[in-house]
Amino acid sequence: MESWKIQLPSDVVWIIHKLQENGKEAFAVGGCVRDSILGKKPKDWDITTSASPEEVKKIFKKTVDTGILHGTVTVMMGKIGYEVTTYRIDGEYEDNRHPKTVTFTENLVEDLKRRDFTINAMAYNEKVGLVDVFKGRDDLEKGVIRCVGIAKERFEEDALRMLRAVRFSAQLNFEIEEKTKDAIKEFSSNLSFVSKERIQTELMKLLVSDNPEKIEKVFCYGLGEWIFPSYLRWEGELIEKTKGLLRETQKDSVLRWSAFLLLLRNRSGKQEEAEEILKGLKFDNYTVKFVSKLVGAWDYDYVAEEKSVRKGIAWIGEEIFPLLLELKRANCAFEGKGMEEIDRVLEIYQQIYDRGDCLTIKSLAVTGKDLIANGIKPGELMGQILNQLLNEVLEEPKRNTKEYLLKRGIELEKVM
Ligand code: ATP
Ligand code: MG
Repeated sequence: MESWKIQLPSDVVWIIHKLQENGKEAFAVGGCVRDSILGKKPKDWDITTSASPEEVKKIFKKTVDTGILHGTVTVMMGKIGYEVTTYRIDGEYEDNRHPKTVTFTENLVEDLKRRDFTINAMAYNEKVGLVDVFKGRDDLEKGVIRCVGIAKERFEEDALRMLRAVRFSAQLNFEIEEKTKDAIKEFSSNLSFVSKERIQTELMKLLVSDNPEKIEKVFCYGLGEWIFPSYLRWEGELIEKTKGLLRETQKDSVLRWSAFLLLLRNRSGKQEEAEEILKGLKFDNYTVKFVSKLVGAWDYDYVAEEKSVRKGIAWIGEEIFPLLLELKRANCAFEGKGMEEIDRVLEIYQQIYDRGDCLTIKSLAVTGKDLIANGIKPGELMGQILNQLLNEVLEEPKRNTKEYLLKRGIELEKVM
């Protein structure tokens, strides 16, 4: 037990007191203790207690059974929920994934023992202070990710922890302790047993962290080959390019995933491959679509001229184009050149929207119906004519009048 003061939110203090009044132990635990010691604002506050889930439900009025089998009950304080989990010992693991059994215990240290890393295995309340039996605070000071107990055993129990080690090292800019690192290298293939959804969550946290280039470790430790298809290679000059691009890209999930998947930039099937990788990791449709289109659009050539920018927006897509500019900007920042050109393109982009230039077939001054009324037959040719009309309007927005476009449409029908 050590003297260390953490400012607990009043809700957390109240929940802990309430459990203590009922003769139970309760502590804030895990990520919130780690982040508080680091001076960071915790995302959420988890509570660990000697009370059984049934007892927790009796003590608090409003609760939700979040993971009752694993001992977790969410206590609602107004709109905010706090996960209260009974001290537990995880039984043997099946398939390197799930504990076969979970046993509840009244001993806090047993609960801390099941946790992955020393920095995540500290508990705190106002009465007892900091409980840090695995020297998590020392490791926080040293900047080290170290398994609780014997690393090999911990990774054999749950292979996801290997990826979590890399994720925390990226979020906190920490080194992975030697034995922990060696164990990851030894057991990397066990990652193939872990569900893609769990892998996705950790990779996402890694990529939107302060040190996304640490994704390198995923490959260096041999985890990458169990996550990605063999065509996604971490090799050659693309390593430095990808790391540089990741470092300069804003902390946005679509942009960071695109920056990472630009590892595929030299491959002709990059868009489809990016799509396959993201689908394989069970991403939502929005992310799959945006990221793969961005990766596909990387080679699109445009210059800082109005018509070129209009064509870029029209062909790449109104939603994708500004993201592509963001990525290009990050790449310029990394390469240390081309920034003026990007700024100029952005300026032109803004002017195009301010003026309301026509960018789609929908906003042409003629419709398919108008063309039909003027004797052009519906069908494939009509589609081609509309595309060509749009092209001409993108070249010169003044052409977007009914008069010009009808005349041009009729001419085009004769020559196309
Ligand atoms: P974050 O800030 O990303 O939420 P966190 O440390 O709170 O980080 P969670 O995944 O929310 O991470 O897990 C909460 C706590 O549960 C961890 O701090 C750790 O003590 C424990 N934990 C989570 N996943 C595992 C695991 N796979 N093996 C062992 N302990 C785990
Ligand atoms: Mg958490």
